[in-house]
Amino acid sequence: MAGTKETTDTYTVANYSRFPVALSHGSGCRVWDEDGKTYLDMMAGIAVSALGHGHPRLVSAISEQAAALLHTSNLYYHEPAARLAEQLAGRSFADRVFFCNSGTEANEAAIKMARRRDPARHGIVSTHDSFHGRTMGSLAATGQGTLREGFGPLPEGFVHVAYDDTTALAEAVDETTAAVLIEPLLGEGGVVVPGEDYLAEVREISSRAGCLMILDEVQTGMGRTGSLFAYQASGMEPDILTTAKGLGGGLPIGAVLATEDAAKALVAGSHGTTFGGNPVACRAALALLEAFDEEAVLENCRRSGDHLMAALRELASGRDDVRGVRGKGLLVGMELDRPARPVVEAALAEGLLLNSTADTVLRFLPPLIISTEEIDEGMDMLGRALA
Ligand code: PLP
Repeated sequence: MAGTKETTDTYTVANYSRFPVALSHGSGCRVWDEDGKTYLDMMAGIAVSALGHGHPRLVSAISEQAAALLHTSNLYYHEPAARLAEQLAGRSFADRVFFCNSGTEANEAAIKMARRRDPARHGIVSTHDSFHGRTMGSLAATGQGTLREGFGPLPEGFVHVAYDDTTALAEAVDETTAAVLIEPLLGEGGVVVPGEDYLAEVREISSRAGCLMILDEVQTGMGRTGSLFAYQASGMEPDILTTAKGLGGGLPIGAVLATEDAAKALVAGSHGTTFGGNPVACRAALALLEAFDEEAVLENCRRSGDHLMAALRELASGRDDVRGVRGKGLLVGMELDRPARPVVEAALAEGLLLNSTADTVLRFLPPLIISTEEIDEGMDMLGRALA
């Protein structure tokens, strides 16, 4: 019988460039492949497995809910979605929440919300090098031009300006702008951290122009940068926030958090999804929030994030091929003077899961529960991979 890799490569669409490893199970910050080799996971399935693998609280919440009720559709109410919406609103600026299944769907819904709110305003201003997803609306907003190639014509009304450039942003918004769509830091775009006042200035520009501010926290949200949402460290509040990735601890779920004023644009029948707010995914997200409260996960994220950044800076200080180390919490990048993919492959051989982004940036997105000892172990492997 052909193996997992061969069968996948034969029967699935060839749109991914996978590493030649088939993972079979995991525990905490470790995963094993089908040959029994163990890896330290500093990728968390691209910022998803916030509680690592096999977390008992998450596993039992998912199992219990799967046995009780797996799916309802949005024709009916169910308690997990009710409680999760209440929790997300209670812990943020939001009055209302819309559930979907992924980051791109969350941005798609946010764009639709902003456009439907005022028929005279349809423009969406986002930034170069941003990543907002792969469906047509989110792709039109995505600032990485190569990702849009070959898929035109895309929806109209999308404009891109330089990231962390509020002069360019102020010039781009006008009375036809529905919303500004911004990442708190560029994740896929190379872990680029803007100036401290950037978000507050974007807020001010949006308010002055009378358009909405949508913050894409698909990657930065759910504790990744050390606070539940990255905006909470900035002193401003957006009108709409999108999140996904870590929200379900590994199950697919996305959410749009919105003020009453923004949310009221979507009336019954104007938008929807069959699976959005699935009971099992919502129970998983509730278990994740419980773990945040009872297991000091965000404190660990801040402590381990500081440790990781310091360890990378130390590693970099003895080398001349590192251009910089940057990030926030456990969303960290190390920029090299050459393509990073070969280093990621060497790290994989050492037993360390990482990835690369923006060609030259090594990206670290470990589970938020990673210990400083595990980070040290990862740094030893990284040192050998860089060598
Ligand atoms: N927005 C941001 C900031 C992201 O980082 C991503 C994915 O990497 C997305 C949107 C798209 O999320 P998804 O892959 O769940 O559609």
